[in-house]
Amino acid sequence: MIFRQLYDITSSTYTYLLACGVTGAAVLIDPVFERVQRDLALLKELDLKLEFALDSHCHADHVTAAWLLKQKTGCQIANAAVIQADEVDRPLQHGDLIAFGQESLHVLATPGHTNGCLSFVSSDQTRVFSGDALLIRGCGRCDFQQGDARTLFRSITEQLFTLPPACMIYPGHDYNGRTVSTVAEEQAFNARVGGGASEQDFVGYMAALQLPHPKLIDHAVPANLKSGRPDADAMPDEPSWAPVYFTFSGVPEVTVEWVIHNRARVQILDVREAAELEGPDDRLADTQVIPLAQLRSHTDSLTRDRPIVCLCRSGRRSAMAVSILQKAGFTEVANIAGGILRWEELT
Ligand code: FE
Repeated sequence: MIFRQLYDITSSTYTYLLACGVTGAAVLIDPVFERVQRDLALLKELDLKLEFALDSHCHADHVTAAWLLKQKTGCQIANAAVIQADEVDRPLQHGDLIAFGQESLHVLATPGHTNGCLSFVSSDQTRVFSGDALLIRGCGRCDFQQGDARTLFRSITEQLFTLPPACMIYPGHDYNGRTVSTVAEEQAFNARVGGGASEQDFVGYMAALQLPHPKLIDHAVPANLKSGRPDADAMPDEPSWAPVYFTFSGVPEVTVEWVIHNRARVQILDVREAAELEGPDDRLADTQVIPLAQLRSHTDSLTRDRPIVCLCRSGRRSAMAVSILQKAGFTEVANIAGGILRWEELT
C-alpha cells in the first residue's frame, strides 16, 4: 500500500494519503482546506485517483477539504453518519469497510472526543488512523462537541487497545513533532490512559484539564457540518491567466502544449547559459534569454504586461527562476514543465 503522512503546520493536523499500489485508487484521511493544492499535487505526481475524502470526526480546529477535493477530483465524501453533515456521499457506521482498489479500511466507532469520532484500521491491522480519539501520549479533549470522558475511555481501551500490540497508531494531530506510536507503546506510556489507568483515573485527569476554548471552533464546526463547502461556494484564489497547476514542491507549472498554443499571450524567459544556445536550433524564436545566474540582477529588464513562463533544459533551473521572479514581485509566472527536452518531443 502506498502511504504518506502529511502535516499542516497551522493546525498541527496530520493528513494521510493511502493508495492501492496496483490500481492507484486513493483515499485522504483528514485533508485540510488550506492544503488542497499540496494534496492534489501529490496525487498527480504519484499518478493516483482519489476515491474518498474521509474525516475522522467533525473538527473544531480546522476546516476539512472534503468538499473542495470532491469538486477537484470527483471523489466521494465519507464521514460518520451520526454527524449528519451536508454533502456526505457515504455516511459511515462502525464495522463498515471502505474499499479502494485492492486495499480497504475497516471503520471503528471510537466516540468520546466527539460523538462522531471514527478510527480507520488497515486490512492487515498494521496501521490505525485514530483521529483525535487517541493521540501520541495523549488523547482528544472531552469538554465540548458532545465529548464524554467515560465514552472515550471505553473507545480507547475496548476498540483501539484490542488491536495487535504492534499496530502503528497514526494520530489526527501532534503538537510536539511526534509522528507515530504503537498500541503496545500507548498502553504502557500514554499519559492519560496508559500504564493500567482505570476509568476513574482517566475521567479525573480529563476533568482537571481546564483547556482554553478552541480559537477556531465557531468557524470550523459549522463549516465542517457542510463538509467544508464555503459560503457561496467561494473557491480559493487560483491563477486565471493559464491552467496553472502546482507541483508537490510548490512550483506553479504550465505544460509545453499550453505554451505552444498560447505563445502570443506570454513571454518565454529562457534561463540557460549562452554556451547551451550556440547551435542554430538550440534557441526558440521570440524568447528572452537571461541565464539563471544573472536573473536576480536583471529582473527590471522584464516587462510585466504579459505573464512570464520560464524555460531551461529540463525544467529544474527554470523552476528556480520562477522563485526568483516571485520574490521580485511577479505574480503571473510559471515554469514550463519538462523544459526544452519536453518541447523537442512535441515539435
Ligand atoms: Fe478534534
